[in-house]
Amino acid sequence: MDTLAPEELTATAAELGADPLLVQGAGGNASLKSGDALWVKASGTWMRDAVLRNIFAPISLAPLLTLRDSGEFEAMEAHLQSGCAVDGLRPSIETSLHALMPHAAVVHAHAVNSVAVSVLGDGPSRFKHAMGCDLRGVFIPYTKPGAPLAKAVAEAFAVHGPADVILLQNHGVVVGADRPRAAADLLREVEQRLTLPVRSLPKADLTSARAFENEVYCLAEAQCGAGLDPFLFEVLTRAPLTPDQVVFLGGAVGVAGQTEESAEPASLIFEAGVGAFRRRDCTPGALSAMDALLDVAVRLPEGAVIRGLTASHEAELLDWEAEKYRKSLDSR
Ligand SMILES: [Zn+2]
Repeated sequence: MDTLAPEELTATAAELGADPLLVQGAGGNASLKSGDALWVKASGTWMRDAVLRNIFAPISLAPLLTLRDSGEFEAMEAHLQSGCAVDGLRPSIETSLHALMPHAAVVHAHAVNSVAVSVLGDGPSRFKHAMGCDLRGVFIPYTKPGAPLAKAVAEAFAVHGPADVILLQNHGVVVGADRPRAAADLLREVEQRLTLPVRSLPKADLTSARAFENEVYCLAEAQCGAGLDPFLFEVLTRAPLTPDQVVFLGGAVGVAGQTEESAEPASLIFEAGVGAFRRRDCTPGALSAMDALLDVAVRLPEGAVIRGLTASHEAELLDWEAEKYRKSLDSR
């Protein structure tokens, strides 16, 4: 098996990773089935680093395809998360999804328009309309990433046939094509079709807001408008929108005065009528997740029905070893 990831895969991953509206932090991943290998992004690595250092782990494809064909996704996840790490690179949590797609090249991204549409109450019908007659798309209701998600996608494929575009509720999008560049083009096309207008938000008085800073929290300038917008204040403090928000921000946005006393104060809080504040000890992954949250939030139509993750969705993510591992890489 080659030891160097294919050049088109690394170049494409770096390009996508440089656009924060498509890929944020360690989120998202890309893969290529080439010869007897599945090259897939390693857990906790950043796509934007793809040409600076090796972020792709090669995995022998044949055992994955055998497990896929027999529907043994739990066994596939165990196989991926245990014996497959090469050079300290553990395959992405979402590798089973990549193995499952019939395409040679697969990109999974938390692209902001896709995520925004995926959390809307009418997201499934918007998505269906956007795919039109020329793109094969399937919408998958929220499912925990890893084996359960791979199983849900396999079941959808069994009913509807394989899709080139999968919108994952409260999560992101997966696209497949014959080459990495074609997959990246398809991702951009899907984002274009799902584009939601960016709302303008109230402006904070930053000088007076700074008076609310303390030892734990400093002003989160970019997020202040969301904290001052009544619709987004309610939506974002009610429930987290995505798994990465749970993993890197610890859950929903907190409300000032309600979170500071807890053992693990919220990473991001809103102070009503003032703005937003973030913990001073935020990791790079947390900062990136905050920006991603804002980029999704400003695209949510005011007054729309928004579906957040439930407490049990949060608990199953926080209790999952694969996510603890990803978080530990971020805090290093
Ligand atoms: Zn994801």
